[in-house]
Amino acid sequence: MTLRHADVLVVGGGLIGATTAFALRQAGHAVTVLDADLPGAAWRAAAGLLSPAAEGLMPDTPLGALAAESLRLWPAFAQQLEIASGMRVHYREGVLTRQPDGTWARIPGEAQVHPPSVVCAALHGLPVHPGRVLSVHSQPEGVQLTTDQGPWQARTVILAAGAWSATFGLPVTPVQGQALLFTPPDSAAAPARAAGRRRGQGARAYTLSRQDGVYVGATVRRNNDGLPDPRACRWLQAAAVRLDPRLRDQPVQVTLVGLRPITPDGHPIVGPHSSQPGVLVATGHGRHGALLAPWTARRLLDLLPAPALPVPAGAT
Ligand SMILES: Cc1cc2nc3c(=O)[nH]c(=O)nc-3n(C[C@H](O)[C@H](O)[C@H](O)COP(=O)(O)OP(=O)(O)OC[C@H]3O[C@@H](n4cnc5c(N)ncnc54)[C@H](O)[C@@H]3O)c2cc1C
Repeated sequence: MTLRHADVLVVGGGLIGATTAFALRQAGHAVTVLDADLPGAAWRAAAGLLSPAAEGLMPDTPLGALAAESLRLWPAFAQQLEIASGMRVHYREGVLTRQPDGTWARIPGEAQVHPPSVVCAALHGLPVHPGRVLSVHSQPEGVQLTTDQGPWQARTVILAAGAWSATFGLPVTPVQGQALLFTPPDSAAAPARAAGRRRGQGARAYTLSRQDGVYVGATVRRNNDGLPDPRACRWLQAAAVRLDPRLRDQPVQVTLVGLRPITPDGHPIVGPHSSQPGVLVATGHGRHGALLAPWTARRLLDLLPAPALPVPAGAT
């Protein structure tokens, strides 16, 4: 098969790969994305809460500081995505959260986006090729990739393969999450953005009003078959009704299943590959990939040499 060439090649077009590719292209890099469209990609199932406090990410911890910084970057990042793509990503500030006493409180420093819209907007206009990358090797002439669609060579490769990152020897384990998307009840009676939380199934359940329905999430299970689990569905259904009784009679539009990429210490791996020159890594974002996407994109942008300026016509 013919060898194809790219300057910067991003492996994985999920929340992290897509938003990173977008930011690099905005900065003038020639970016190509390869994505295998794997079932279980986390971005399809993610709620889109940008909520460091609710995730227990305290600003005085290293991860909490990154989360706070990324949250600050989100409004401008969302605006850039929308302007460049002409699509909405549904960024909204302030999430109403139901308190244990049943009252509602607006938690400062929380926001939400719609992850599938973010990925679509970020990839809009970028060259995205289907294909599963099987191996990556740095050579003096560039980074060589084997894929199920033929070989590629690139000056720089960014590995953003989410829960499948172990393919490239990275210490990432898939942890399955499941959620339900309900047809919304009469929205006039509902708080515009409502998140209530309830413990069980290794997680806290919450409901989140989105433009495509009422999202009820999410379970945490150490399996990676990517298939809906009937017990988890029952737990989510019961939690949904307890959090918002109006959901009792509402149809479930879709059961969402996604694999979160988890590292041993819970921190994402973002930086140069330890042994492969020309390869950068952006993975292991666990439960926080939507939240940490703008910070990750900016960090990778800082690590890449500035793109070569095009030579003006007639210059010698
Ligand atoms: C139920 C659930 C709820 C969540 N809610 C939130 C939330 O509210 N807020 C938040 O911040 N985060 C949330 N997350 C976490 C978030 O979804 C992830 O952290 C994020 O999607 C990780 O992004 P990623 O790009 O690394 O992986 P993914 O989004 O999974 O994308 C990986 C991509 O890589 C591709 N790929 C994999 N291997 C290869 C290969 N070898 N070659 C080519 N392509 C490949 C896949 O096809 C996929 O498109 C949630 C996750 C789940 C499951």
